Amino acid sequence: MSRQRALVTGGAGFLGSHLCDALLAEGWSVVVVDNLLTGRRANLERLRNDAAFEFIEKDICEPFDVGRVDYVFHFASPASPVDYTLHGIPTLKVGSLGTFHALDVAFKYGAKYLVSSTSECYGDPLEHPQKETYWGNVNSIGPRSVYDEAKRFTEAVTMAYHRYHKVDTRIVRIFNTYGPRMQLNDGRVVPNFMKQALRGEDLTVYGDGSQTRSFCYVSDEIDGFMRLAKSSEHLPVNIGNPNEFTILECAQQVLRVTESKSKISYEALPQDDPKQRRPDITKARQLLGWEPKIQLAEGLRMSLDYFKKAVEEETTRSK
Ligand code: UDP
Repeated sequence: MSRQRALVTGGAGFLGSHLCDALLAEGWSVVVVDNLLTGRRANLERLRNDAAFEFIEKDICEPFDVGRVDYVFHFASPASPVDYTLHGIPTLKVGSLGTFHALDVAFKYGAKYLVSSTSECYGDPLEHPQKETYWGNVNSIGPRSVYDEAKRFTEAVTMAYHRYHKVDTRIVRIFNTYGPRMQLNDGRVVPNFMKQALRGEDLTVYGDGSQTRSFCYVSDEIDGFMRLAKSSEHLPVNIGNPNEFTILECAQQVLRVTESKSKISYEALPQDDPKQRRPDITKARQLLGWEPKIQLAEGLRMSLDYFKKAVEEETTRSK
């Protein structure tokens, strides 16, 4: 019997590339479609000679067809606040047009479908922790709206294809995730703090650092995706680590793990920066038997070699 074939849009990105590894390890053949706007070839380098792996450089905002697939994993989108602010219109387009095209592929081949959504659907949440049933508190015209509304629209299109076309869809709401293959300069808090700590620069805490996030290590996150992919739940499921930290605590953990003597400096808080974020993962626990295993200090230690190498490479390049 021939292998099952999966399409991963955005497979050259941080989460997409880890997902490719997990699918290949389970015996899938994988085709990635990515326009490399924020994804990187380096994330897929080790798969280049794998006969079960294929990479197509293409923008999914145009209709596309990669032949028969059994599963569509739609992960294409800029995802860090710095990236989606820089690429605001492409972010809106990939969440809207790109989502239609990914769903059209699933519809055409009768493939299953899983899409990456986000805790940004909850905006600056007034309910804490956030359950999947919470509708959110989102500014539809602020600087983050290019991402938040793109992803909310992604969810709407996905549910519509499920309801009208009977596509077998799943939606994962992803909370802050970190680990190897994050871009050093994507502006997110973990790569920023790791880079600053390893270079002996000040760690830039935005605002007073009392805002909270809940950080999930990448291997836990991918395990959640794989379990959800095998389930038949169509409504959104939160996959994130419910251990909540202030950003100041996160900075202190990075200083400890890197044994850095860097100081902390304070900078302006970006507009609409959510004050708190913490997933309620009751649904994932009950439905998927999933919960994260790796806590922040351990995950930062597991990421240290990657960030050290990335900082060294950047230093060499700039010489
Ligand atoms: N942040 C910070 N310093 C940095 C980068 C980010 O204090 O150098 C804060 C940011 O203001 C936010 C949190 O860390 O409150 C998480 O930011 P990130 O960009 O990682 O993702 P978000 O959860 O906001 O999408």
